[in-house]
Amino acid sequence: MRRATTALVLAACWSTGAVSLPSADTATQARSILEKSIATPTVAGRGEVPGFARWLAGRLRDGGYAEREIEIIPVGETAALLARYPGRDRTLPPLVLSVHMDVVEAKREDWVRDPFQLTEADGFLFGRGVADNKFDLSMLVALLADLRRSGYVPARDIVLALSGDEETTMASTRVLAERLRGAWLVINGDLGANPIGPDGKPQAAIVQAGEKTYATYRLTVTNPGGHSSMPRPDNAIYQLSAALGRIGAHRFPVAMNEISKAYLKGVAARASPEMRAALERLAAGATDASTLDTVTSNTEYNAILRTTCVATMLEGGHAENALPQRANATVNCRILPGTDPRQVMQELQRVAAEPALQIEPTAEITASPASPLREDVFAAIRKAVDLRYPGLPLLPYMSAGATDNKHFRAVGIDSYCVGSYFMRPEDDFSHGLNERVPADAIPGALAFWDALLRELTRT
Ligand SMILES: [Zn+2]
Repeated sequence: MRRATTALVLAACWSTGAVSLPSADTATQARSILEKSIATPTVAGRGEVPGFARWLAGRLRDGGYAEREIEIIPVGETAALLARYPGRDRTLPPLVLSVHMDVVEAKREDWVRDPFQLTEADGFLFGRGVADNKFDLSMLVALLADLRRSGYVPARDIVLALSGDEETTMASTRVLAERLRGAWLVINGDLGANPIGPDGKPQAAIVQAGEKTYATYRLTVTNPGGHSSMPRPDNAIYQLSAALGRIGAHRFPVAMNEISKAYLKGVAARASPEMRAALERLAAGATDASTLDTVTSNTEYNAILRTTCVATMLEGGHAENALPQRANATVNCRILPGTDPRQVMQELQRVAAEPALQIEPTAEITASPASPLREDVFAAIRKAVDLRYPGLPLLPYMSAGATDNKHFRAVGIDSYCVGSYFMRPEDDFSHGLNERVPADAIPGALAFWDALLRELTRT
């Protein structure tokens, strides 16, 4: 029954498309790959990724990939997968398609349904990782196998690059980025859903072209301590708290780039009249306090316009009757592309105005530049979107969190995240409970990816 329904939807979809589209079997294939993907709990520490990668390699070989074209690279308990689809001109740098194989943890007792079994209910497909991002992983594997089977020859090599620890350390991504240095561009399928508005219609197709740098700092004040019956003028907890208060009140400067300009222009159309006027003044170059205060009163716009740092963890003292010898805070920053994380650390030190305070990063920080809004890339996405939603706005976006793209950008590859399906933001439960995608999303997503790949590898 489900297959018949799917075939009908596909037929309706395909009759209007200007490009040739994958066979009806591809949707069935994609659904079965998605079922197996969800049933494989590729959570950090469970060691499931290498076996999953081998299974995916099998699906690619079914489509005609040769053994030598697929490589599984072990990285600790996880793995990365590289699969090369040869193009007409092997000397051109390849198009890279990237998604990740791992998912965040999910506990059976917290979920309504088994998180590691794909379940269809209430018009959705439920399962851990279905939105982030095994849906698009399954679409890409099914589509590439189908294209290969059909005899399609791209103008340049297409490299499928699957990471195995995007949700945690991204060690496998760093390995992939090193191997892919010099690639033409990366199209990453880890965007998630494009938004559907309150009127039930798609609002925009989002194209992530940059992301803020993730940086965490540890702030420490130490003190000789002593007995709490004899307080001294200096105190690690008081000094740290006062410094944190000053950091909390600090606002990093507002700075616009090509992406935030285009994004804020795009969202202005559906903002309240007051916000819309402020966004328009900002776009025209206004820097007065009233304009900035209005725009940055929206937490999302604020995060797009400036570096942010916020205290997230706190500890201090060792006994209720002892003066604290140590107090620590963790401050998490999201830094605008192009800003040096060391500069942010210096600014925190200056704003804290506490000579006893020591600040250090908790881990290695990877800063990545924003990718240019390339005409060839946006034209190809435009065509793929127009297939279903002619004229739907493309909205360039800079994310405040991290994707694999930061490592690809850090080695100099222009990288973009796109989404193949649409959902209301309130239905988006990525990383959360009862994660879902719309049950009827498969045909449209395959059509989108198919059009995008063909457009990017036509010449
Ligand atoms: Zn993801």
